[in-house]
Amino acid sequence: VAKRLQGKTVLITGASSGIGRSTAFEFARTSPHDLKLILTARRIDTLKQVAADIVSEVGSGVKVLPVQLDVSNPDEVRALVGKLPAEFGKIDVLVNNAGLVKGVAKAPEIGEDDINVMFATNVTGLINMTQAILPSMLERDNGDGAGDIINIGSIAGREAYVGGSIYCATKAAVRAFTESLRKELIAKRIRVISVDPGQVETEFSVVRFGGDKAKADAVYAGCEPLTPDDIAEAVVFAAGRRENVVIADTLIFPNHQA
Ligand code: NDP
Repeated sequence: VAKRLQGKTVLITGASSGIGRSTAFEFARTSPHDLKLILTARRIDTLKQVAADIVSEVGSGVKVLPVQLDVSNPDEVRALVGKLPAEFGKIDVLVNNAGLVKGVAKAPEIGEDDINVMFATNVTGLINMTQAILPSMLERDNGDGAGDIINIGSIAGREAYVGGSIYCATKAAVRAFTESLRKELIAKRIRVISVDPGQVETEFSVVRFGGDKAKADAVYAGCEPLTPDDIAEAVVFAAGRRENVVIADTLIFPNHQA
């Protein structure tokens, strides 16, 4: 696997915490000798710390570039590729991970701002990122294409829950977009991969309840949530398969999750 990933450039959105951060570490640990990581999120200081922590753990065989990026801002997304230094310019693996949930509330109580930010980040942001990176993947190898697009969806995109109507709708949209893109690109050498997590304990778990840790913990009653590393391992496993193997669609949840 290390050899297959060697020389690749991986761009991860939402790499400042949780699953995105773990995925960055997992790529670096799996292929520590010649890998380039572009880590993006809004919190640039946190990203810089993640970059430093990766290099201090695996060494300087992994080049890490932290880039401030708000995926919900289409201008920033459009400008991203042009801003990258030449050595990071050929993106082989795009991990569309950035996402958020704004509270748990019944449909009539969800404010317009929260609806807009969830769609702008989870759906339009992911689509804009894909549109920004895909053209360069399509041009590779004389038009045969090359690369991986890995979209982090959610179990919520397959099975909606009470109080999560908008979040679930965004993740169902991610699922539909990913499936359509996979079909569109079937004749190309571009793998389109969904990784749909169930309950994973991250900042997301508490943010969802406006910082109320007791409410957040109650969700995990009777089940031990996954760690972000559990999802990161699946992402890197899919990216590290030989080219003809597509781990197209993976649902990962903790044992006992209802
Ligand atoms: P975290 O809150 O730990 O991480 C979310 C990441 O997304 C952060 O790095 C955050 O960085 C980034 N982010 C949020 N908004 C934006 C934005 N507008 N532009 C760029 N980056 C943004 O949560 P998780 O790791 O749990 O979530 C990662 C993904 O996994 C999400 O798509 C989530 O929906 C999905 N997921 C999570 C589950 C869970 O139980 N935790 C279950 C199923 C799916 P910053 O604030 O610095 O911008």
